[in-house]
Amino acid sequence: MATLGDPKKTIEILNKYHFVFRKKFGQNFLIDTHVLDKIIRAAELTDEDLVLEIGPGIGTLTQYLCENARQVIAVEIDKTLIPILTEDTLADYDNFELINDDILKVDIKRIVEEKNGGRPIKVVANLPYYITTPIVMSLLEQELPIDSITVMVQKEVAERMQAAPGTKDYGALSLAVQYRAETYIAANVPLNCFMPRPAVGSCVIRLKKKQEPPVAVKSPELMFKLIRAAFNQRRKTLLNAISNSGELSIPKDKIAEAIKEAGLDENVRGEVLGLPEFGRLSDVICDLI
Ligand code: SAM
Repeated sequence: MATLGDPKKTIEILNKYHFVFRKKFGQNFLIDTHVLDKIIRAAELTDEDLVLEIGPGIGTLTQYLCENARQVIAVEIDKTLIPILTEDTLADYDNFELINDDILKVDIKRIVEEKNGGRPIKVVANLPYYITTPIVMSLLEQELPIDSITVMVQKEVAERMQAAPGTKDYGALSLAVQYRAETYIAANVPLNCFMPRPAVGSCVIRLKKKQEPPVAVKSPELMFKLIRAAFNQRRKTLLNAISNSGELSIPKDKIAEAIKEAGLDENVRGEVLGLPEFGRLSDVICDLI
């Protein structure tokens, strides 16, 4: 039975192990059973699922995951949490496996192959906020067999993921997420649901991988280079932003020609363009270079 959603039990464990929170690891542990239930519901787990959890902390969400999935593999960077998880809070679960490492260095593809026969896994996590974007981008960009990603993130990051062209929150993250996933906000989570309280509001967002991307492009890699260039200098025209890009070396006159051929205004800024426009431009440039 999952017990850690109770704040008293959390405090008991923290005291027992003289645990000291490390700000640098983004440690804000969940202490609210309603929020934990909402995360589990949003993740739509079945007893066939393999779940990858990022940052189990003392194992609060992990206990719920173990109760609801076939197997849970959790990656935790903080070695002081390892004995808490293995000897105490998760000791009774035989469907739990722990990897003491940095999630950005773990070979997730290998885990999916070895532990799930290459079938899609589900990622569920209360993410460390200092690296939310790199984690989500790396999960999406590696083209891993992932069915869905259900994560607690800063409210502001959830807004950026869902933002539409021309809005202040719109950027490379919005396009990267929307190209690959349907987004759904499962809960807004108040500060008092965490220990210690974070400085910013939080949301549970589910990213359900799309079967097919919303636009068919010749080179998604090139399209995302153009997108990154456009938003690295979002106040500049698309033409200038692309010609200043360190990732791309396309002569300025060719870019101007491509912008025109893609049916875009020569003074347009990337921040007002959606995936269809970036896709069109990318295909024209792909043929030019
Ligand atoms: N899942 C727990 C909960 O909900 O109570 C803890 C969530 S806490 C917001 C984030 C967790 O991620 C912490 O346990 C932290 O040590 C861990 N973490 C931070 N950076 C990490 C990294 N690069 N790789 C793996 N885990 C990391």
